[in-house]
Amino acid sequence: MNPLVIVGTGLAGYNLAKEFRKLNAERPLVLITADDGRNYSKPMLSTGFTKSKTADELAMNAVEQMREQLKADIRTGVRVNAIDRVAKTLQVEGEIIPYGDLVLAVGADVFRPALGGDAAERVYSVNDLQDYARFREVVAGKKHIVIIGGGLIGCEFANDLSNGGFSVEVVEPVGRVLPSLLPERASEAVANGLASLGVKFHFGHSVKGVWHEGDGVSVELSNGERIRGDLVLSAIGLRPRTSLALEAGLKVERGIVVDRFLRTSDANIYALGDSAEVDGKVLLYVLPLMAAARALAKTLAGEPTQVQYPAMPVQVKTPVCPVVVSPVVPGTPGAWEVEAEGNDVKAVFRSPEGLVLGFALTGAPAGNGAVKMELTKQLPPILPA
Ligand SMILES: Cc1cc2nc3c(=O)[nH]c(=O)nc-3n(C[C@H](O)[C@H](O)[C@H](O)COP(=O)(O)OP(=O)(O)OC[C@H]3O[C@@H](n4cnc5c(N)ncnc54)[C@H](O)[C@@H]3O)c2cc1C
Repeated sequence: MNPLVIVGTGLAGYNLAKEFRKLNAERPLVLITADDGRNYSKPMLSTGFTKSKTADELAMNAVEQMREQLKADIRTGVRVNAIDRVAKTLQVEGEIIPYGDLVLAVGADVFRPALGGDAAERVYSVNDLQDYARFREVVAGKKHIVIIGGGLIGCEFANDLSNGGFSVEVVEPVGRVLPSLLPERASEAVANGLASLGVKFHFGHSVKGVWHEGDGVSVELSNGERIRGDLVLSAIGLRPRTSLALEAGLKVERGIVVDRFLRTSDANIYALGDSAEVDGKVLLYVLPLMAAARALAKTLAGEPTQVQYPAMPVQVKTPVCPVVVSPVVPGTPGAWEVEAEGNDVKAVFRSPEGLVLGFALTGAPAGNGAVKMELTKQLPPILPA
């Protein structure tokens, strides 16, 4: 039997493998990863300083355990360089690996701004367990971190690093935090919460360059201001990894284009997780990839199944001012209705007809399960049945 081959052992690859093994214990299963194949939950990377966890402590399973659990051949530390769709093989660093069906679960890359200056090596990003291990090593004994980006990951790290005893400054070109997720009043609440931990914000300016200065760095902003820090954490966004698919001639837009069966433009190649654009949607979150893993496992086990996405509100891990948000696609007709007291905000986005299309909760309402459930029930599904 030709093997099922999954490229990537992040949450997408491993969840798919687990779901598939529930339905089919026999088919040869191969997973290939450029990293060390340890099973970990990526969202925990931005809570590690609060919880004082090393990278080893965040890893849930060693690769040996995953091999046994999944009855799978897991190749670690190797990169798939090319896909031969005619021969149905993968070129993997000097080896050719055949596949029957192939799944790309290759994740997303950190977007790197083009920065001037002479200290690019002092600009870090944390997008996997190995990045996290490296970052923990370099921050040891340091005090002052400059974060580029006040989006979800930037705000989570601002909270986490503050909890870990660091002093943090955040540079965000848009005039507020979480600008693509929250209405203004809710952004204000999160910024106030983080400011209460000592986080300083530089809104409205981008980072032009990072320079060595003494033992640390000097971060130059577009208005000429300079911020002194020990090192820089860049958190300005992620882009689906599409080059492998693109070079194999698969259809790629913002992500690897797949239909509701998670099938690419090649009938034997599928994609899910951060790398995939599912029916036009690129959602870099865990719940969508879990739904995709369940549907794809059924399809691969012989029961073609379309993925459905219910409404899936996102939790932002800023415990100083908790956030739950169901974002609204920019340009959607409608308006926010906001009730606010201090950092407690309940904002509901309604269509001109009065339908709930999104919401943002911060502070106490974000911790109120009943409020969240009531609003979620009213939201339309993201990909309906
Ligand atoms: C700090 C942080 C906090 C987050 N918090 C949340 C949260 O609270 N809630 C939420 O829903 N989401 C959160 N997310 C997003 C969520 O973690 C991701 O959506 C999810 O983990 C993506 O999983 P993935 O398997 O698609 O990608 P990845 O975990 O990136 O896995 C990609 C895999 O592909 C492999 N790979 C790539 N290219 C190749 C190649 N050519 N050859 C071989 N192997 C290759 C890599 O080695 C890796 O194993 C967070 C993300 C970050 C960075």
